[in-house]
Amino acid sequence: MPDTAQTIWSAAQQTLRGMLKTELYNLWFAPVTASQIDGDLLTLEVTDEFCEFWLKDNYLDVLRSVVSRAAIRPIQIGFAVRAVETAPSAKQETASADVALAAEHSAKVSVGSVKDVGPRKPEAFFNPNNTFDTFVVGNNNQHAHAACIAVAQKPGLTYNPLFLFGGVGLGKTHLLQAVGQHVSANRKNPRIGYLSCERFTNEFIEALQNGLLPKFRKKYREMDVLLIDDVQFLAGKERIQEEFFHTFNALHDAHKQIVMTCDRPANEIQGLEQRLTSRFEWGMTADIKAPDVETRLAILHKKAAALSVELPAEIITFLANRIRTNIRRLEGALVRVAAYAQLTGKQLDIETIETLLREILQEEGKVAVSVGEIQRRVADYFDIRLADMSSKRRPESISFPRQIAMFLVRQLTDHSLSSIGDAFGGRDHGTVLHACRQVRDRMEVEAKVRQDVGYLEKQLTR
Ligand code: ADP
Ligand code: MG
Repeated sequence: MPDTAQTIWSAAQQTLRGMLKTELYNLWFAPVTASQIDGDLLTLEVTDEFCEFWLKDNYLDVLRSVVSRAAIRPIQIGFAVRAVETAPSAKQETASADVALAAEHSAKVSVGSVKDVGPRKPEAFFNPNNTFDTFVVGNNNQHAHAACIAVAQKPGLTYNPLFLFGGVGLGKTHLLQAVGQHVSANRKNPRIGYLSCERFTNEFIEALQNGLLPKFRKKYREMDVLLIDDVQFLAGKERIQEEFFHTFNALHDAHKQIVMTCDRPANEIQGLEQRLTSRFEWGMTADIKAPDVETRLAILHKKAAALSVELPAEIITFLANRIRTNIRRLEGALVRVAAYAQLTGKQLDIETIETLLREILQEEGKVAVSVGEIQRRVADYFDIRLADMSSKRRPESISFPRQIAMFLVRQLTDHSLSSIGDAFGGRDHGTVLHACRQVRDRMEVEAKVRQDVGYLEKQLTR
């Protein structure tokens, strides 16, 4: 298994993508590449000095822990500012395009013909962590898992196409890559294409612009197994739907295996041509749901073992109870806790964990809590009337709980300042901002306020 700077960084990026807000990730982490690993020092290349300082100031410990986890050993981070790019035409070459792709998707397209791949084994193009061995089967994914095993054992002969769908971070890409890795380990020189639908689109456009369409078509229509991730990307894109339609038909007619993943059922992809929707449902469709608590526990135990960390049962249970909707997030939380435990050697208690995972737990909470629920809980807790959440009454015993409620809405939901103001009796966004600041300031100095807010937050995100 290659332990190169790139494979480590790709795996780390995948974890970061799950931990961070998309805009944040895209802005700061997506453009970063890994240039080399020397002993325990991984050098990350950034676009400019500002980016280096910013990452150092804000994310150094996160980067260290995520990268250490990806490498399964403690890693230090160094930075280098990327040299100015050379001739842009170099980018067009397949080799560097593949490298860029690897960084982007943590797995490469394996064109698979002997001539293209040379002596390298195709497995290297996938994230080595995404295999059937590392996949925990639970009630939520049993069906999808079984279908993938069947397809991996007899590509093109059982379910074709196989269409997997389910929410973010629930294991679709993992299963898709597991199929690819299984086939490449068990067949002689299989031609396996693994790529995101977005990548397929970009390659198509590039081929179109460079007059290389015949080559593009030949490449994808002559695969033995085509694994396409995130086909919801086809939504509303007529031209690429047309192209994909023909690729699909060519492969299907030749009894070549197609596996697709999607974040929703095929018939819910907006603006997807009927002929594609129906084809996606021709073979087998299988959904992946959020894992139940047993599955979450099993996943945590398995991942902790892979990281060779032993965590108190209490902590594992805490994580399994608090993070329910996204396995990537669950894994991100475990990695942080494990890295913290390994790097500090400190005794872990629930309070430390809660602080450490504050943002992750808030992200998780955002899925479920409504403004109304927050207002109700806060009003109950301080024994004031629900109506006072939107009233104009100003005694401290009422106004401060109201401010706490605004603060919690801001923390636990995606509502904008002005929509929060609206929900609290038509206050303006400045009032909300002031309330949040007030609560934060008082939390700094008053233990009682910290306790109240902490308790409410816990209740609301449970
Ligand atoms: P999706 O593609 O559905 O958004 P991924 O396949 O990227 O999700 O999964 C997110 C993370 O969770 C990955 O690190 C993956 O290995 C892990 N994961 C998901 N489901 C399982 C499972 N059943 N067993 C072990 N790990 C899992
Ligand atoms: Mg995915």
